[in-house]
Amino acid sequence: MHAQTALADEPARLAALQRLAILDTPREEAFDNVVNLVRTVLGVPISAVTLVDKDRQWFKAIEGIDATETPRSESFCAYAIQQHAPLLIPDATQDPRVADYPAVLQDPHVRAYAGVPLVTSDGYNVGALCAVDTKTREFTDGELDILRNFARIVVNEMELRRIAERDQLTGALTRRGFIEKANQEIARCHRYGRTASLVLIDVDHFKSVNDTWGHPAGDAVLRDLAATLGAAGRSADVLGRLGGEEFAMMLPETGVGEALAAAERFRAAIEARPIVVAPTRTIAVTASFGIATLDHSVTVAEEWIARADGPLYEAKRGGRNRCVVA
Ligand code: GH3
Ligand code: MG
Ligand code: MG
Repeated sequence: MHAQTALADEPARLAALQRLAILDTPREEAFDNVVNLVRTVLGVPISAVTLVDKDRQWFKAIEGIDATETPRSESFCAYAIQQHAPLLIPDATQDPRVADYPAVLQDPHVRAYAGVPLVTSDGYNVGALCAVDTKTREFTDGELDILRNFARIVVNEMELRRIAERDQLTGALTRRGFIEKANQEIARCHRYGRTASLVLIDVDHFKSVNDTWGHPAGDAVLRDLAATLGAAGRSADVLGRLGGEEFAMMLPETGVGEALAAAERFRAAIEARPIVVAPTRTIAVTASFGIATLDHSVTVAEEWIARADGPLYEAKRGGRNRCVVA
C-alpha cells in the first residue's frame, strides 16, 4: 500500500483501529510501563498512549493528567497521525493549530509536545505515543529515537494481543481471549441491567473420531464445528475454544428461552452437517450443550463457565446430542 494513501484514507484507518479491538479496554501494565518510562527517560511530566477514534482521542495509558479521553478537536495527537515523522511543538502558545486548546489555556498549561505515530503493520496511523511538558522545550534526536522505539513496542504489543486471542486451528477465540470478552460482557450487563447467555459445547465421543479416523480427521471436525457454530450464530455472538474439543458461545442480549432455542439450532446444525474424514468417507458428529444465563451472582467469566458445566454434564449423562439449561 502506498504510504500516503494510508494517511489520507480515514475509513480504512478507523477500520484498522477497530481491528485492534483496544478502545475502551481496561488499563494494562505493559502500556502503563511505557508511559512511565517515557516520563523518566525524557524528563517530562506527562506521557500518553493515545488512540485517535472518529471524534475523540482515547488514552490506553496516560500519566500526569487525569483523563480517559478528550474530543478529537482538542487533540495534539490528531495532528501527529497526519504525518510519518514525529510531530514536534516546542511552544504550544505559538502554534495556531493548538494555541487555543483548553489543555494549553488552562490546566495543565501544556507548552511542549512530541508525538510519534503508532503505525500498524499494515501501515495505518492509529494513534500516537506522546511526551508532553508544561514548559517550552526542544526534543533531541536521541529522545525522538527513544520515543520511536517505544512506539514500535506499543504497536507490537497491541498486535500480539490480537494474535494470541485467536485459536490457530479454528479461528475461534482462545480461552484467554474468550474470558476477556466474557468479563467485558459481564461488566456491561451489570452496569446497564442487561442479560446474556453462555452456551458450553462439548463434542460427543470425540476420542473415537481420533481413534478411528486419525488426529487430522479430528482436527477437521473441530474446524468444521467452529465454522458451523459461527454460521448458525448471530453477528454479536462470540465463539471461543476453551480447550481440546470444548467450545463456548456467548450470546449477548439473550435470555434463557432464546438461548435454549439458539443452542437447539446449533445442535441441529452440527448433527445435520456431514464431515469429510477421508477422501470417500463422511461422518456425522454430534455435540452436547450446557446453557447458563447471566445473573447477579456471577461476577467473573470462570464462574459463568462453571454454571454451564453442570448442565453440560447432565446432557452427557442424559444420552448426549442434547441441550440442558442451568
Ligand atoms: P464425551 O462424549 O464424553 O465428551 O467423550 P469424548 O471422547 O469427546 O471426551 P474426552 O474428553 O474423553 O475426549 C476428548 C479428546 O479430544 C481427547 C483428546 O485426544 C482429543 N483432543 C483434544 N484436543 C484435540 C485437538 O486439537 N485435535 C484433535 N484431533 N483431538 C484433540
Ligand atoms: Mg471434553
Ligand atoms: Mg467430548
